[in-house]
Amino acid sequence: MAPRCWRWWPWTAWPRTRPPPSESTQSRSRAPVGLNGSAGRPASAKYRSFHQQFSTQEQTPQICVVGSGPAGFYTAQHLLKHHSRAHVDIYEKQLVPFGLVRFGVAPDHPEVKNVINTFTRTAHSDRCAFHGNVVVGRDVTVQELRDAYHAVVLSYGAEDHRGLEIPGEELPGVLSARAFVGWYNGLPENRKLAPDLSCDTAVVLGQGNVALDVARILLTPPEYLEKTDITEAALGALRQSQVKMVWIVGRRGPLQVAFTIKELREMIQLPGTRPILDPADFLGLQDRIKEVPRPRKRLTELLLQAATEKPGVAEAARRASASRAWGLRFFRSPQQVLPSPDGRRAAGIRLAVTRLEGVGEATRAVPTGAVEDLPCGLVLSSIGYKSRPIDPSVPFDPKLGVIPNMEGRVVDVPGLYCSGWVKRGPTGVITTTMTDSFVTGQILLQDLKAGLLPSGPRPGYAAIKALLGSRGVWPVSFSDWEKLDAEEVSRGQGAGKPREKLLDPQEMLRLLGR
Ligand SMILES: Cc1cc2nc3c(=O)[nH]c(=O)nc-3n(C[C@H](O)[C@H](O)[C@H](O)COP(=O)(O)OP(=O)(O)OC[C@H]3O[C@@H](n4cnc5c(N)ncnc54)[C@H](O)[C@@H]3O)c2cc1C
Repeated sequence: MAPRCWRWWPWTAWPRTRPPPSESTQSRSRAPVGLNGSAGRPASAKYRSFHQQFSTQEQTPQICVVGSGPAGFYTAQHLLKHHSRAHVDIYEKQLVPFGLVRFGVAPDHPEVKNVINTFTRTAHSDRCAFHGNVVVGRDVTVQELRDAYHAVVLSYGAEDHRGLEIPGEELPGVLSARAFVGWYNGLPENRKLAPDLSCDTAVVLGQGNVALDVARILLTPPEYLEKTDITEAALGALRQSQVKMVWIVGRRGPLQVAFTIKELREMIQLPGTRPILDPADFLGLQDRIKEVPRPRKRLTELLLQAATEKPGVAEAARRASASRAWGLRFFRSPQQVLPSPDGRRAAGIRLAVTRLEGVGEATRAVPTGAVEDLPCGLVLSSIGYKSRPIDPSVPFDPKLGVIPNMEGRVVDVPGLYCSGWVKRGPTGVITTTMTDSFVTGQILLQDLKAGLLPSGPRPGYAAIKALLGSRGVWPVSFSDWEKLDAEEVSRGQGAGKPREKLLDPQEMLRLLGR
């Protein structure tokens, strides 16, 4: 699908272009500096007309994007499509592109990964280049990028997971769902996770789509995963798995679940499993669903149906023969991970029973004082993510875990932009990320047109390449990735898989002759 510019969004709806910084702002050296570190010029009227006359419109705007997930690629796509001379360099810390499309999206959802075809077309543009194996903030600073480019877009996602902050969370058997996902999806840093799947019950904390992804992968009969791009190591471990029951636990009630109907339907129909839903959790819900918006209404109706309606004969037989089960547990908040008798690993979780206070979006779960202990050998926490600051020169909101911005313009840093999860927080599907990345691209081009970006040519990658070379960093290009891609596809062929992912960065570099 070739996404279009949102024509229904009137131009006047964009925030008004900011005036060039005042002299006093300049004196705080917030304007972009040249490669030699010289501060930007004063924003006098003379400068403004000079600036606009020789604006980057007339030259090749050199823009770089940090992060090659959907946000990075969609921002690049928008810039290339709507400016005929713009050049975009995409920097990526992994050796390979595509972010969570490769390392997050579940292996049994191959259709979601088709966006990779669009990203590949973008990368093939002769005005776009990919530089993998470059950790921005470590190998090159954001200031160095700002010196080399007219504009820098930060699209580096939200990699940190929120900790449970409860006693026992460090016990073996407690993992972040994101690490577990990284393990079966071949994220190099998670390849040695080796989760112990010898227990019969797992608890997933959180009721979003990621929670359902991990529950589904844990319970799917392994033969259904054999033809996916799941790593061979994960498939082997899942074949040996003893996990028969997965509880998916939420602090709030059925009206507040964060997963979507497609993922719920998949769970309900998952071969070899049956749902365990307590009808008591759904009492009175039938009346309340009239008030909720349509997508939530449809989702709740499906939940209600699964929990309260008697299944037909075939479905009842299917459930009776199921060897595995999953269940949703509501109004429970994790209080403590309970250790095994020898204290060496997790053996259960103590949940505080909660009740809801407040209405609508503001509904909060507050503990009632009652607790419940749930035996389990594996606890996967999926209670949200946050971005991390990658460079001290970039403002960061530690509370919200995002870069403070106005529709993609990083506050107080001219020429610096952001898109994707680092811009608006770690919620939303790829389409949501696409929309907000187009907005960022549009705002950037609007600033470029208004002469608000530095004038004069910028060296772009030539300068950064020299810096990286002097630091012993060897970037991976898109054609390098295509060699790795071909190798993965060929390794998958024997087993009938779309690919067998390469997991070891050293081996990948060796294959590239480094
Ligand atoms: C487990 C999981 C499953 C999901 N499944 C689906 C799904 O099925 N369908 C769907 O529509 N959405 C799904 N999503 C949501 C979707 O993945 C996100 O909306 C989208 O990936 C966000 O894009 P992003 O570019 O902001 O972040 P990311 O995809 O995380 O991309 C950020 C990129 O920046 C790179 N990076 C980080 N730090 C640096 C640095 N210092 N220097 C250079 N590069 C850096 C990262 O390596 C990464 O490649 C899923 C999310 C998760 C977590």
